Amino acid sequence: MSNSNRQTISYLNRRFREVGLEPNKRHGQNFLVDLNLVRLIADTGDIHPADAVLEIGTGTGSLTAMMAEKAGLVVTVEIDEHLHQLAKEELEPFDNVRMLLQDALKNKNNLSPTVLAPIYEWINQAPGRGFKLVANLPYNVATPIISNLLMLELPPRLIAVTIQKELGERMMAKPSTKDYSALSVWVQALCDVSMARVLPPNVFWPAPKVDSAIMRIEPIAAKRAAIPDLPFFHTFTRSLFFHRRKFLRSVLVSAFKEQMNKVQVDAVLADISFYSPTTRAEELTVAQIQDLCERFRLASQSLR
Ligand code: SAM
Repeated sequence: MSNSNRQTISYLNRRFREVGLEPNKRHGQNFLVDLNLVRLIADTGDIHPADAVLEIGTGTGSLTAMMAEKAGLVVTVEIDEHLHQLAKEELEPFDNVRMLLQDALKNKNNLSPTVLAPIYEWINQAPGRGFKLVANLPYNVATPIISNLLMLELPPRLIAVTIQKELGERMMAKPSTKDYSALSVWVQALCDVSMARVLPPNVFWPAPKVDSAIMRIEPIAAKRAAIPDLPFFHTFTRSLFFHRRKFLRSVLVSAFKEQMNKVQVDAVLADISFYSPTTRAEELTVAQIQDLCERFRLASQSLR
């Protein structure tokens, strides 16, 4: 059956009924039923033969097939056995597609290593290769997947994903807004991020309760190079926003209580022009948080 017939509401409805299934809310099964938008996700991914594409959530395989026409390799992961079988029919003709039937996550916060292994193997076979995450992501796992990929030594060249619009807004949020969070700082410190398109609920089956958005998240090598210790920065940022309404000083005193006393924390803060006793983390720009982080990293190291 052609791609266009597979991704319609009536096809999905019938196919699910035939196998006695209901779309599974827990697995974020909301299928895009507008093929132009499926194509827009693939186009946002700007896929070339030197790209391996990681897709999390094969679904019926429509986006997978589109991407396979352009990519060197597509590794697509699906947790649901019925969907995995269904997509197999669609993806049979493509010898550059690897279908994995598994949870993309090893645990709540970490990607499964078996998902990345075939990608790295392919990248290492020839120079100039890299990978991209292009997917209509299951919403409940979008944050750990994106955060994890940015932590990798070899991060993706590009992330082009459909996620909840609200999550996309949080990634792009500016200081002193309610959406500004550790995720905003983490993503903006490492990437250029933009919203390519807002998608209303009715372009999905079943329709979710909220708007979605196609996001373009591009990791920038120079931004990454400006952060000497990525895991430290990640933990630091998370602890800053853990009690976002507290004053910065008290957050830092408690975050570094094992390594520094209050006098030592105050000595670091005394040198910082953007700090005052009433400063809160949520007011600081990404650059200021990076500066703060680096000062505390060096100070806590020198006291070891
Ligand atoms: N790509 C399809 C599309 O665009 O219509 C499906 C997207 S749907 C939003 C998300 C898919 O991810 C579902 O097929 C779901 O079963 C699968 N999924 C959910 N959680 C997963 C996980 N932890 N690992 C792998 N796949 C998962």
